[in-house]
Order: sequence, then structure tokens, then C-alpha cells
Amino acid sequence: MSVYLTKELCKFFLTGNCHRGDSCNYSHQTKEYPCKYLHGTGVCEKAHGCIFKHSLLNEQEIQKFMSENEDFLKKVLKETGTTNLSDYFLNYLKTKDQRERQEAVPKDVMIPPNLLKLEEEKQAGQTGTAGTSTPSG
Ligand SMILES: [Zn+2]
Ligand SMILES: [Zn+2]
Repeated sequence: MSVYLTKELCKFFLTGNCHRGDSCNYSHQTKEYPCKYLHGTGVCEKAHGCIFKHSLLNEQEIQKFMSENEDFLKKVLKETGTTNLSDYFLNYLKTKDQRERQEAVPKDVMIPPNLLKLEEEKQAGQTGTAGTSTPSG
């Protein structure tokens, strides 16, 4: 039914500078990508002339949209106090914040000196001459 998007949208196509056309490695199908203005702020100035998707997003699309437009949505939230995704985005920020706190490594953890020494030895070995074995006999 719905096509799962693996390709990234072509940044050059958006600015009219992509000359690759159909052979481009990136997607030119802007209609498959959510409009960040409509879905982020609730208002898109371009309305029907917009090249991005204005129809409702499903859960999966919303998650993808939020991770790709996080900075934009944060800005919207800061400026207007809300986003068009309201709870979705607030929950997204909350879970992200929690996850980052769990993953944070304490700064006082140091690498043991013997491990550092091993790293040095490994690097020195790599720059050495490739083993040319002289035949014996
Ligand atoms: Zn392109
Ligand atoms: Zn739009």
C-alpha cells in the first residue's frame, strides 16, 4: 500500500540545481515528503501550489518527519509555543532527552594507560614495511 521511503530527498532538486534528472541517486518525488510548514506550523503559504505533501501523516511518517525536521520544529515551538504536531513533538523531545541522559558517559571515566599503549603499538605496526619474506635454503 504505502511505499516506504528509503531515498533522501535531493537537496539540489529543491533549489532547481540538479541536472541529473532521472539518474539522480536522490529522490525528486517531493510530493512523497511531508511539507514542514504545514505539518510543523499548521500553515503553508503556498497552499495548493506547494510541492510537498499536505495530506495527513501516519504515525510512522510523523516520527520520520520529526527526526528530520527537529531543529525546525524546535524553533517553531520556541517562537509560537506550540507546533502542529503538539503532543507528538513534545513526547518526541521528552523521550529523546531521557535517552540522551541514559547514554551520557561520565566524564571522569578514563582509558587505562595499558590500553593507550596498545593503541600506539598498533599504529606503529601499520606504518611498518610489508612483510617480504626472503626464501631460505
Ligand atoms: Zn537530484
Ligand atoms: Zn506546503
